[in-house]
Amino acid sequence: MGLMLACEVALHDVPVVVLERLPAIEWRPKAEGITGRAVDIMDRRGLMLGVTETPTTPPTPEQQARVAAGERRPDSLLPKEFPGARHFASMFLLRPESPDLLVPQQLLEEDLARRATELGVDVRRGHTVTGYAQDDDGVRIDVEGPDGPYTLEAEWLAGCDGGRSTIRKLSGIAFPGTDGITTGYRAFAEIDDPDFHLPGWFRKDAGLLVYEEGPARFITLEFDGPPVNRDAPITIEEFQGALRRLSGTKVTVTSISKITRFTDNARQAETYRSGRVLLVGDAAHVHSHWSGPGLRLGLGDAVNVGWKLAAVARGRCDESLLDTYTSERHPIGAQTLEIQRASIALMRPGPHVDALRRLLRELLLRDEANRQLTALVDDLHISYAMGDSAPATPLVGRYSPDLHLRRADGTVRVAELQRNGRALLLDLRSDPELRALAAPWSDRVDVVTAECDDAPADALLIRPDGFVAWSTPADPASLPDALARWFGAPAATA
Ligand SMILES: Cc1cc2nc3c(=O)[nH]c(=O)nc-3n(C[C@H](O)[C@H](O)[C@H](O)COP(=O)(O)OP(=O)(O)OC[C@H]3O[C@@H](n4cnc5c(N)ncnc54)[C@H](O)[C@@H]3O)c2cc1C
Repeated sequence: MGLMLACEVALHDVPVVVLERLPAIEWRPKAEGITGRAVDIMDRRGLMLGVTETPTTPPTPEQQARVAAGERRPDSLLPKEFPGARHFASMFLLRPESPDLLVPQQLLEEDLARRATELGVDVRRGHTVTGYAQDDDGVRIDVEGPDGPYTLEAEWLAGCDGGRSTIRKLSGIAFPGTDGITTGYRAFAEIDDPDFHLPGWFRKDAGLLVYEEGPARFITLEFDGPPVNRDAPITIEEFQGALRRLSGTKVTVTSISKITRFTDNARQAETYRSGRVLLVGDAAHVHSHWSGPGLRLGLGDAVNVGWKLAAVARGRCDESLLDTYTSERHPIGAQTLEIQRASIALMRPGPHVDALRRLLRELLLRDEANRQLTALVDDLHISYAMGDSAPATPLVGRYSPDLHLRRADGTVRVAELQRNGRALLLDLRSDPELRALAAPWSDRVDVVTAECDDAPADALLIRPDGFVAWSTPADPASLPDALARWFGAPAATA
């Protein structure tokens, strides 16, 4: 998330340094895609354009034929009717209307690194943060670089340093939550038994087994407590033991090309800000990664706080703007932890959970329930309180629709207009009074006059993160208050 946040801040001409401990991007198994709102976020910044789905393990033609013929073990959780559908608690029931992009996390990291370079971000790989001290004027950061230790002075420090965040620990921000109850592995490995299993997702007596061929990819999940030592190297025997216990076979693992071990501890930072220090992404929250909330949540954090941090750093807005980062994003993180705990509970083995899953499956066959859960796991439900400056309308606080707008120079989407990371005032009734009201903020807010067939309002003020801060039918006279609330004093009096 460090690169994403750096790009968000640099879009507003604020200098940023990224300190990354690793000398290069690490290609161990991590996220395998983004869904829902995370795809919209990429679109609104012109990231991952033209990148198409890249399955990590393309199946052979024979395997494709077997899958097409419906050859699966009858107990597979992956029904034929929902190919490619997303899952909650390994129940392939969701029929999402929102998009997904199934690519390894590392492709996203590469694209962000490219963008960061274009924006002039100073990305220092092989530089580890070892300590910091803050006062009213700034932050002094202790760094261990390839050429030895040095100190960096900055106005603000964002800890985007993952679940075991050094910066969070140094800040003293509490990280309460629940310990993991599972141990799982995600691996690309070779086994000696061609008849080991047909591909699919399976509930087993000890947990869950996922097996996909070509080359073989495995995910295991056992409810035998968290790993004894999460940092210990993973041996073939350890992973093979999990495969044997879950499959009930004597399968032998002959080699492993990539593997990670994971658990489901769920913890959240009590606040996302301590003075001049902010926490973003996994540094602010950890949880099980089933159904992939990590990147979506972290990207949502980064686009929420990036423009606010830039506005404060440029002196346009008061520091109190940064407190809306915690007030808006902390509840979303807490809700994700709840959903992920529920998902783990629903993957426990045993007849009681079997019964619960059957009940839930029935409910999820109903469109309304299915849509509601899909919205929850895709972050489509998010709505922020926009405060007294914005009279309530159906759009205020919600993510703005990606409207297709007609202008003299052609058609353009809202997402394309927001690629510069700026706020947007849509004037869809060509209202000169509205444009005059917004003129003092023209250095921060783009005003676009256009026609739109499915306009949900005559005018909308959209924050850089895509959320509607103000809209008609509110009285246009209330627009300056909303502009000042989010973007600072008008230029003439700033
Ligand atoms: C096996 C696995 C599968 C996953 N699957 C999914 C999925 O399908 N979908 C999904 O959305 N998410 C998934 N996740 C979670 C996702 O990978 C994380 O949510 C995401 O990487 C969080 O990004 P981050 O930048 O906050 O933290 P990280 O990716 O952990 O990045 C933190 C960075 O900070 C660096 N760093 C740490 N300490 C320091 C220091 N002191 N100084 C300098 N640099 C430091 C680290 O080297 C690292 O590069 C998965 C995770 C795992 C492990």
